[in-house]
Amino acid sequence: MELVLGPENLSVPFSFTIPTHLEDGSEVKRVGVYSSGGHDSGAMLCLILAELQATGRLDTVPVTAFTIVKGEGSTYYSQRVVDKVAEHFGVKVAHVNNLENNEPAYTDGRIGIVPIAKTWLENRHDMVLYMSINRMAPDDIRPFSQTLKIFYKDEKRLYKCPFLLLHKPQITDIYYKLGCEDIIPYTHSCTVQAVGRCNECYSCKEREWGFSALGKDFVDTIPPDIDDVSFGGTWRNPNR
Ligand SMILES: [Zn+2]
Repeated sequence: MELVLGPENLSVPFSFTIPTHLEDGSEVKRVGVYSSGGHDSGAMLCLILAELQATGRLDTVPVTAFTIVKGEGSTYYSQRVVDKVAEHFGVKVAHVNNLENNEPAYTDGRIGIVPIAKTWLENRHDMVLYMSINRMAPDDIRPFSQTLKIFYKDEKRLYKCPFLLLHKPQITDIYYKLGCEDIIPYTHSCTVQAVGRCNECYSCKEREWGFSALGKDFVDTIPPDIDDVSFGGTWRNPNR
C-alpha cells in the first residue's frame, strides 16, 4: 500500500507491505501487532487490516493483537480498540491481553523486553510482528516543549516498526486516509490519567498536535463504560 501522509509542510510518502515470507524463508501465516489502546497502535492495527484487505488476504491471514500490562487502563482501552477495528473490517481479531510485564520496565510505565522476546519465541515460526513505536519529533518540528522520556530501540529481529520515523500528524492521517477515523475516539493517549486527559503530558500534547497540524478538529477519548479496569479499580499504578 502506498500512501502520502501528513499536512503539506510535513508530507511524506509511506509504503507499507506485509511480507509473504519471514527472513528464514518460512511462510507468513499470521500477523501479530502490539496494542496498547493508544492512538498509534490503533492506526497500526487499521493499517495491517487495510493492507490484508487490499491484497486479498483478509480472510486467510489471521491477525492477533498482543497487550502487555502497562497501567493507565491500557488493557481496557486496547480491548476496546481491537473490538472496534475488528468490527470496522468485519473480521475476527484475536486478542492476547494482560501479558505480564517485567520489572523494572513496568514501574517506569514502559514495556519490557521479556514479554516481547517471549511473544516472538512463541510465534516466530509463522507470524510477522509489528510494533507502533516512534521517535520524538525534533524541536524544530514539535510545536510544544514536553519531551518523550523513553527512547525506543528498533529491535529489528523481534518486530517491525513502520512508524519509527513518522510524526504524530502523519500517523493520525493514516486513520483519515484509510477511512478509519471512527476508531479514533476509542483510543486513549494520556500517560498520567487513566480516565480523561491531563492536557500537560507529552502524549496529550502530541495527540493534540496530530489533529491541529492536519487541520482537523480534536477527537477526544470516549470515557470507559466500566469502573474497574486496572490496579484494583484505582486506575493508578501503585508503583509510580
Ligand atoms: Zn496527559
